[in-house]
Amino acid sequence: MAGGVNSNFRLNISPTPLVFERGEGPYLYDVDGNKLIDYYLGMGPMILGHNPAALTAAVKTQIDSGILFAGQTAVEAEAARLVCEMVPSAERMRFGSSGSEVDQAALRVARAATGRQKVIKFEGHYHGWFDNVLWSTAPGLDAAGPYEAPKAVAGSKGQLADTAETLVVLPWNDLDLLEARLAKGDIAAVIMEAAMCNAGAVHPAAGYLEGVREACTRHGTILVFDEVITGFRLAPGGAQERFGVSPDLSTFGKAIANGFPVAAIAGRADLLDLFSTGGVVHGGTYNSQPIAMAATVATLKALQPSLYAGIDKTGTRLMSGMREIFQRAGVKASVEGFPQVFHVAFGLEEPATNYRDLARMDKQAYVAFTTALLRRGVRALERGAWFMSSEHDDAVIGQTLDVVEDAVRQIKADGA
Ligand code: PMP
Repeated sequence: MAGGVNSNFRLNISPTPLVFERGEGPYLYDVDGNKLIDYYLGMGPMILGHNPAALTAAVKTQIDSGILFAGQTAVEAEAARLVCEMVPSAERMRFGSSGSEVDQAALRVARAATGRQKVIKFEGHYHGWFDNVLWSTAPGLDAAGPYEAPKAVAGSKGQLADTAETLVVLPWNDLDLLEARLAKGDIAAVIMEAAMCNAGAVHPAAGYLEGVREACTRHGTILVFDEVITGFRLAPGGAQERFGVSPDLSTFGKAIANGFPVAAIAGRADLLDLFSTGGVVHGGTYNSQPIAMAATVATLKALQPSLYAGIDKTGTRLMSGMREIFQRAGVKASVEGFPQVFHVAFGLEEPATNYRDLARMDKQAYVAFTTALLRRGVRALERGAWFMSSEHDDAVIGQTLDVVEDAVRQIKADGA
């Protein structure tokens, strides 16, 4: 395997990439016998924790019926019905296999519907690893250009350079700049994480999403919420439910199937119908794979409002407990976001409002912190957010806070 891993986002993990044997609830067990409290949670999907019994049972039953049919099944119809019931803007939907793919589907539909080519995306927002969107996801501030008119910074070598010509990069949470650019009338779609989660978990400013919604409607632009992280995580109906703003299209992945490779695009019927009657192509051998659909049904049925209320409590306790520890130790760090997904930013005291704020955090000190946590049995992403599950109960949060306190003591002693 190139680099010993199968995703670049698993490369260069400090002190070393780990090899895992099994997961159970909030815990992961590696091949060396270490037990870790897991806040990676598969990079977001495992909102029910590892190996939830009802999901595992559903998958075991489904597998006895066969593996792949290239036709329709009752289980995919049930999964689709649940998505349409839970997601406020979902009049129609389609399943896909990864967030990257369904984001492509959304942009293609938006271009077909508007006859326009250009798309607005925001600095620090991630919409998959494909050429036309892997721009300015984590640019260095020295290369990012002026705030008002950020440069499109390529995320990868080998990327088709001319895809930047169909992309306009803007700072998020700034309605005036968006409004001014939309007014030219040539934008097919605005795509955004409705609450920014990849670079760090940042709330939309008061009135921002409503303003974006209104401006997109006025300028004939399709509004796409990329809810690959926020979907089924911030609320049963995702960020659009939590903030009460309805996009034209939204995309889902991760928590939709608690770890199975499932994604979805949902939204206005007239837009989704372009796939069936409007000449817009969307395909995928593994779309609505029956075993993954059984996992989807089991996951979505488990995502009751009480589950979010529970994580509201435990996540809030973890966030405020960490803030207190940093304060007591005199460590300058902010803990911001949502109880379901939040970030820890060393060197920042004020809540971030956009990518440029977050990019000023002390990344080296944060990696020293996550490394110290890992050595004490707590696994948190060294780039990005902490994810919570329903299995992280009060006892687990208490253990985590003890570990955080000890890790902070050590990094202070090391002078980091
Ligand atoms: N959009 C967002 C907001 C994401 O966080 C991700 C994955 N981190 C993607 C799209 C891409 O999803 P996938 O990795 O399943 O292709």
